[in-house]
Amino acid sequence: MSVTHQLLKLFQVDKQLRGLRSRLDAAERFLEQQRTLLKEIDEKSTAVNSQTKHLRAGIANDEGEAARYEAKISGLREQINSVKTAKEYNAGLTELNNYKESKTKHEDAAVENMAKLEQLDSQAADMKKQREERARIVSGAETDRVTKEAEIKDRVEELTAQRKAMTDGIPKDALTTLEALIKLRGDDAMAPVEVLDRRNLEYACTACMMTLPVETVSAMLAGKLTKCVSCHCIIYTEEDLLPVKPTPKAKPVKKQVAKAGPV
Ligand SMILES: [Zn+2]
Repeated sequence: MSVTHQLLKLFQVDKQLRGLRSRLDAAERFLEQQRTLLKEIDEKSTAVNSQTKHLRAGIANDEGEAARYEAKISGLREQINSVKTAKEYNAGLTELNNYKESKTKHEDAAVENMAKLEQLDSQAADMKKQREERARIVSGAETDRVTKEAEIKDRVEELTAQRKAMTDGIPKDALTTLEALIKLRGDDAMAPVEVLDRRNLEYACTACMMTLPVETVSAMLAGKLTKCVSCHCIIYTEEDLLPVKPTPKAKPVKKQVAKAGPV
């Protein structure tokens, strides 16, 4: 068996393996995407929760301060009532106004933050819903991944063992060449040639449809590992690789004469 033939057999097993894995890969990619989205929601929720906590503490502080000023105001009012001079009275009023101003400042801040808190609470509720929905999708995607893996497991093991047995007999450099090409070109790593004119060694690569130079064709026909000069895939002749069949007798080609249709 030529190296090309060995590579082709390996390539075919590899193609089946890739085909099987691609379904699992797609399921894994989807699961990964969904997990990322769920993580994003969790991160946003954490941020909102921390903002909420911060706001609540701020509101409690402002309410406390407002109450403290209210107590001061009541005390001061009593004092003002018992002052003797107009000067003391005016000084008392100025202080009272300062206290009132401070109290209002804290009350306003508390009201403003309560409005923000309301928004955050609604955001948090919204995110909770989003999270539930996303968690459901993640769980479905996990089940799907496990199912797909189980479906292909036996066949993948079988093919992997076959592949391993095949690689053992292939020269290392040829194997490296094929593996690099598979990585780069996938199913187009190897391609059969099409015979255009056998006698004149006119062959074309079926991967890129370009005609191959005579020396490339000769090398390939001599059993050497050969690449297409245009697309660099490994080329092979299908007929060389098929078991030899008795040549069927050429059937005479009946010429189809177009019948004149009804006029
Ligand atoms: Zn080509």
